[in-house]
Amino acid sequence: MSDAAAPPGRPMPGVRDGQVTERAACVLAPNPSPMTLDGTNTWLLAEPDATEAVVVDPGPEDEGHLRRVIDAAERTGRRVALVLLTHGHPDHAEGAARFAHLTGAPVRALDPRLRLGEEGLAEGDVVTTGGLELRVVPTPGHTADSLSFQLPADAAVLTGDTVLGRRTTVVAHPDGRLGDYLDSLRRLRSLAVDDGVSTVLPGHGPVLRDARGALEYYLVHRAKRLAQVETAVENGYRTPSEIVAHVYADVDPVVWPAAELSVRAQLDYLREHGLV
Ligand SMILES: [Zn+2]
Repeated sequence: MSDAAAPPGRPMPGVRDGQVTERAACVLAPNPSPMTLDGTNTWLLAEPDATEAVVVDPGPEDEGHLRRVIDAAERTGRRVALVLLTHGHPDHAEGAARFAHLTGAPVRALDPRLRLGEEGLAEGDVVTTGGLELRVVPTPGHTADSLSFQLPADAAVLTGDTVLGRRTTVVAHPDGRLGDYLDSLRRLRSLAVDDGVSTVLPGHGPVLRDARGALEYYLVHRAKRLAQVETAVENGYRTPSEIVAHVYADVDPVVWPAAELSVRAQLDYLREHGLV
């Protein structure tokens, strides 16, 4: 889910179904909204010659969508052998159990409540289904259970809701915490700076071909919002809703309830650091 900032530069078209990198194809779920942008990006990943595919985030429990994901795998002669979840929000994870039933594939996630099968996911895990290498990168902050998946062969990283293809994301207080989120953005930026990652495959919105630029924009945006919240408190704005109406005056009020979660996370952060 997204919150608020104006996009950098021109608006970009949304992701469309189809192959995005050599190993990653997108199947867009039919759940567009102010919070989900064009809808959830379900990712279908496979090595070029493999007969097994990995699906990241089956998306909402929408039978037509889930069957389109399976069809997309079968059209290329593959079966879905594994499902991974970036986090537990329903627009990413609600359809996982039904999808697992349809495909027979296990579901792996950080949160044990989301798993189906024996295996979870944790820091340092490397998934190698069908020869495809995915490195598990914990990126808490949007939620406590948020993961990213590095796809080194395509110089890409799947970020779920930690980085979106357009606008910025919500720090979903109280589960999501701003300090964690800033650490996660820095961790992703180091993948771009030191480990060759150039492409972001986000959970919503278009693919980003300048991963480093996107992460630097996110870090600058977060610092700017935090400074605005700090100033608002100093100027006597007290409640989260007062602060949202003041600081987020430039964005569509339809996303204010989400922005309020981010403001609560920012207030916690400022208090923990003795800044307000
Ligand atoms: Zn989410």
